[in-house]
Amino acid sequence: MNDKRADVVNGISRGGPRIISWNITLRCPLRCAHCYVDAGELEAEGVLSTGEACAVIDQICETGKPIVVLSGGEPLLRDDVFTIARYGTDRGLRMAMGSSGYLLDKNTAVRLKDSGIRTVAISLDSADPVIARFIPRHPRRMGKSGPGDQELPVTRESMSRSTCR
Ligand code: SF4
Repeated sequence: MNDKRADVVNGISRGGPRIISWNITLRCPLRCAHCYVDAGELEAEGVLSTGEACAVIDQICETGKPIVVLSGGEPLLRDDVFTIARYGTDRGLRMAMGSSGYLLDKNTAVRLKDSGIRTVAISLDSADPVIARFIPRHPRRMGKSGPGDQELPVTRESMSRSTCR
């Protein structure tokens, strides 16, 4: 068993969680009919600051070494998401991300990898644009000029760069 796997197993044997999915924002550029957190333009009241998020990571480390999935809302809307990911990585956690992929481009994928994010799970409604059109998931016009109805800009390259196992 390698060291990181042993950390997870030891955490579980101490009663700690194996995986934590953490909604670090409730903002999102999309408007999905099926959104279970009703994400949108407004941030949640009392959302954690960068320092508070790092303090939560410190508390998580006291439970063991679970996998921590930064999610939302759209986590890439937080400017400090790379700082939070790096902090968790440096504390020995396996950091991951759940994203719509809407804001993911090559540069962002490289920054994610550099911050230690190990895996990015991207939700795709369908690989078939005809089927995807039947799923009510539309860009939200945040601010003055939002994106129009378009294909999600998730490229094969950015996906392969950001999905690092
Ligand atoms: S992409 Fe996810 S967080 Fe955003 S509106 Fe859709 S379901 Fe909600």
